[in-house]
Amino acid sequence: MLKFILKLILIFPMITSAQDLDFLKSLNQQYDSYREKDINHRRFKHSDIKPIITSLEDKKFFTVKKAGVSAEKREIYLISWGEGPVKVFLWSQMHGDEPTATMALFDIFNFLKAADSLNDFRKLIQDKLTIYFMPMVNPDGAEVYQRRNIFDIDINRDAVRKQTPEGELLMNVFDSLKADFGFNLHDQSTRYSVGNSSKPVTLSFLAPTVDYEKSVSPVREDAIKLISGIYKNISHFIPGHIAKYTDDFEPRAFGDNFQKMGTRTILIESGGYKDDPEKQLIRKMNYLSLLYAFKSIAEKTYKNEDPGVYEKIPFNEEFIMDLILRNLKYKNAGYEYLIDIGINREEENNNDAKDFYYKSAVEDVGDLSVFYGYEEYDLKGMEITVGKTYPKPFNSLQEIEKLNFAEFYQEGYTNVVLTKKGSTSFTKLPVNIFYKTAEDESLNIKLEAKANFIIKKDKEIKFVVINGFVLNPSKPQFKTGNALIVK
Ligand SMILES: [Zn+2]
Repeated sequence: MLKFILKLILIFPMITSAQDLDFLKSLNQQYDSYREKDINHRRFKHSDIKPIITSLEDKKFFTVKKAGVSAEKREIYLISWGEGPVKVFLWSQMHGDEPTATMALFDIFNFLKAADSLNDFRKLIQDKLTIYFMPMVNPDGAEVYQRRNIFDIDINRDAVRKQTPEGELLMNVFDSLKADFGFNLHDQSTRYSVGNSSKPVTLSFLAPTVDYEKSVSPVREDAIKLISGIYKNISHFIPGHIAKYTDDFEPRAFGDNFQKMGTRTILIESGGYKDDPEKQLIRKMNYLSLLYAFKSIAEKTYKNEDPGVYEKIPFNEEFIMDLILRNLKYKNAGYEYLIDIGINREEENNNDAKDFYYKSAVEDVGDLSVFYGYEEYDLKGMEITVGKTYPKPFNSLQEIEKLNFAEFYQEGYTNVVLTKKGSTSFTKLPVNIFYKTAEDESLNIKLEAKANFIIKKDKEIKFVVINGFVLNPSKPQFKTGNALIVK
């Protein structure tokens, strides 16, 4: 009996109200009709969102104000909706390359504009709340898809000194609103794990601390309870994929200062999800989380949530890599040994940051049994060698295209030299291209080395790895990814 009661106590905090879950299920079902169709990928810019924002000016219950401008004079808007006494303030993309929540804010505008079976909910939040949105706080960073503003200052370390126009503006708007609730919307690395599990963190939450001692002030306690509610409900859609962001106090950051100044502040970080490079599922999870939060605030149900749920959310940990090749035989320095190889693929800006390509490198070598890969191969019984550069240079891309790649890999090559210089940094051809001379490269598998390998069983090539992407040697095509052109 005692055991049963204990079990009940353990389970109880995770019980969600059926009504809340039904609400979220309807939101989830209707989502596609409210998804802002003019924003389909992460690399949208200020010029893409400006017409959508200004089109809200004549919409019922919306007020659109130009709050200020960025260092490069791009308008930063403050959009408000609702007529209630409780003020909720949301700001996104103070880091220019963290756009996921901005996409969700536009979906929320479409939801708020519409009428459907959830009209009661709209009426509820309209009566109880006034919601203020500041999407894309750092439009200059977004323009070149970089974290910092054009002074190369991290706006989220400028809350006290206020030397960036964007940081100063955010603080001024905060001061003028003195909101009851604040949502600080960011993206984090796609490679955090939920605790030491194999699950990538899709969303992480934090009620930022107000001091180094991590005290729980009454304001922070409310933020913690609200996160408990969001966590329980959103876990239904992405079970095991939600974590807690590091709760170290950062005296220069906005969230920590806002919490200290009396606004119940919640940080939401968009992370990663398998096969969602454009973060469209994560965008939807932001949409659901925020609309749920509005409901919980309007109905004051967050007050009844158990702060213990928040305390038990696992932290972001670093147990995920993009690709892990396991149990390979490798001959080096007169030894033969067994290795796992972890590879990460970094996104590089291309074409005025309108798109990107991947540049991959070896992240770790050895026993990687405690790590997990978004993509994993168990290659037991196979041998790995580093891909070599073909000695004879090519005069044109067309010549390279005509290569018999299966034979080329069979001889141990993954790279070629091209005599003519081009303008791009990557290719969809399944071979890396060096201009003029082969790069001076070590042929050893080591940390930070480029990830170009040939993997054989006995004498037969089973896989070829080009720039960190595993290809079938007889049909070498990139589904995602690319080879590099090295200038
Ligand atoms: Zn950020």
